[in-house]
Amino acid sequence: MSGAAETMEFQAEVGRLLRLMAHSVYSEKEIFLRELISNASDACDRLRYAAIANPALVDGNSNFEIRISIDKENRRLIISDNGIGMDRDDLVKYLGSIAKSGASDFLATLEATSASDKASAHIIGQFGIGFYSTFMVADTVEALTRKAGDSQAWLWKSDGEGAYTVEQSEKASRGTDIILTLKEEEGEFLEAFRLRHIIRSYSDHIPIPVLLSEDLNGDGEQANAGRAIWTLSKTEATDEAHREFYSHVGGMGEGPWRTIHWRAEGSLEYSGLLYLPSSKPFNLFNPERKSRVKLYVRRVFITDEAEELLPGYLRFLVGVIDSEDLPLNVSREMLQRNAVLRQIRTGVVRRVLREIEEGAKADPEGYQGFWNNFGPVLKEGVYEDINNREALLKLCRFQSTESDGLVSLEDYISRMKDGQEAIYFITGEAGRNLAGSSQLEGFKARGIEVLLLTDPVDDFWPAAVGIFSDKPIRSVTQGGEDLDKIQKTEAEEETAASDIDPLLSRFREVLGEAVKDVRVSKRLTDSPVCIVADDGDLDLHLSRMLQQHGETVPRSARILELNARHPLIQGLSGKLAQKSFSEEVEIYARVLLDQARIAAGEPLEDPSVYGRRIAELMVRGL
Ligand code: ADP
Repeated sequence: MSGAAETMEFQAEVGRLLRLMAHSVYSEKEIFLRELISNASDACDRLRYAAIANPALVDGNSNFEIRISIDKENRRLIISDNGIGMDRDDLVKYLGSIAKSGASDFLATLEATSASDKASAHIIGQFGIGFYSTFMVADTVEALTRKAGDSQAWLWKSDGEGAYTVEQSEKASRGTDIILTLKEEEGEFLEAFRLRHIIRSYSDHIPIPVLLSEDLNGDGEQANAGRAIWTLSKTEATDEAHREFYSHVGGMGEGPWRTIHWRAEGSLEYSGLLYLPSSKPFNLFNPERKSRVKLYVRRVFITDEAEELLPGYLRFLVGVIDSEDLPLNVSREMLQRNAVLRQIRTGVVRRVLREIEEGAKADPEGYQGFWNNFGPVLKEGVYEDINNREALLKLCRFQSTESDGLVSLEDYISRMKDGQEAIYFITGEAGRNLAGSSQLEGFKARGIEVLLLTDPVDDFWPAAVGIFSDKPIRSVTQGGEDLDKIQKTEAEEETAASDIDPLLSRFREVLGEAVKDVRVSKRLTDSPVCIVADDGDLDLHLSRMLQQHGETVPRSARILELNARHPLIQGLSGKLAQKSFSEEVEIYARVLLDQARIAAGEPLEDPSVYGRRIAELMVRGL
């Protein structure tokens, strides 16, 4: 392939993305420059890191810089870096496709929410589609690039209409020039004062000089402050600077909920600058559960894939940890079993949990928003991180039967009724009216608060935790909770359980293996029946969920509970003595079991049989 340009199609996702960009009335077109400077800075970081192992790569020139040159005559804007550069394969991989997992899903949501939505603009950055934003302002985009260590340069070129070309080219120095030929109406981006302003507002913290020159040969003058924000003192780092840095590392535009900026000194020294985000990234629930926090060693970027730096349940954090103690030449593999890194992790986790707790106290309203975004993730920590379990449980907030807002376990305990020994919860799908579950009736009648848990992780942590503050945590659908010890709020006549003993026996006889037992319920007041799991059996919702995920779950029969005060149960009990009724009661028993299953969200073995039985009872009633 001697110099001939190869034409290639963009990956389908890129095509969709470019169309979205073209049609969005995007108010902040200027962010294309932030994205390009950010890429250039990353490219320098990556070369600096690679050069630790292979110094020949920088070839004596380790003064990294980013140069922005204006070529008014040709309506061109050129962003150059002397970073790592790209070879042909890199160009195809990085500038021809979107490598991120979940790209398709993400684009689908973006398309559905209407592209002109301002929110979509925020998402673009975190999605890492920064480079393509150049097509908002440019008719043609070229990347002239030579990878450090290679002699061959390459030219990538596209007008953003579905295809691009790649050909061999010449370039004197390593690194990348991004050459934009601006659209007719985008002349403002050829004005030095405008560009200087954009650089100050978005790229001030970039720890590499950004030089702006008004002609192609000029030296240019530095347009950014060029100091890493985490090396500044707390007072030097302004809110403005934090917002800008947060959007650089997190790709989110609207500022963090809280900023954690500290320096650990003592046996270990490191700086931390972490942000608690104010909005949810699109890939929060990716199975890899990867953290996005960047690891630096003495101001040199090492990796943003140090899985050991933070536990998965803090993957929503964005920012930087800069260690003084790790060796500069630490490889990513070495990080996996590095004692220093493990110690840093312990300290960082503690610091972050403390900050969240303080935030919850200082700004309860903001914390609600934070919890709604990240609560389900933090709860993974309750399950996994035994050392910090107490601290995490204190951060948890729940919906409950007794409150419109969210409640903490401490709130719950402070409201417990006389004689109440446990913390009660029920789990279920988010859409279902959990508060209306029949299993809750006895609790409601006694004014006992029940936590309503609807996240998938809620099926796991309560059993793992068991106890909070000496109080057992129990599911209301499990076991024969002793509600007797607790006074009912309204005095209700107690019907002696013995009243319906014959009915219970008859039901047991009829239902046989289909149930584990039939007994009088303490938890029902309004409904005639419900099913519960026996102590030691899997909770109803959990076993259903496991089945949905293809797990084989030991099928345990449920316990059917009858409400001895309900007119239907009393009526059945009264008629049982009549001989003629003995056959009919069988239909009732089966119908009531199915009803209890439906109410608990369990599938019926044969819904049509259920329907026929109901019809039969109706006919008899006419
Ligand atoms: P992101 O930067 O979020 O990964 P981009 O679309 O902006 O997304 O860039 C895609 C990839 O292209 C980058 O991850 C990087 O590998 C490569 N790239 C972009 N610009 C440069 C550059 N100036 N030098 C080297 N590589 C670059």
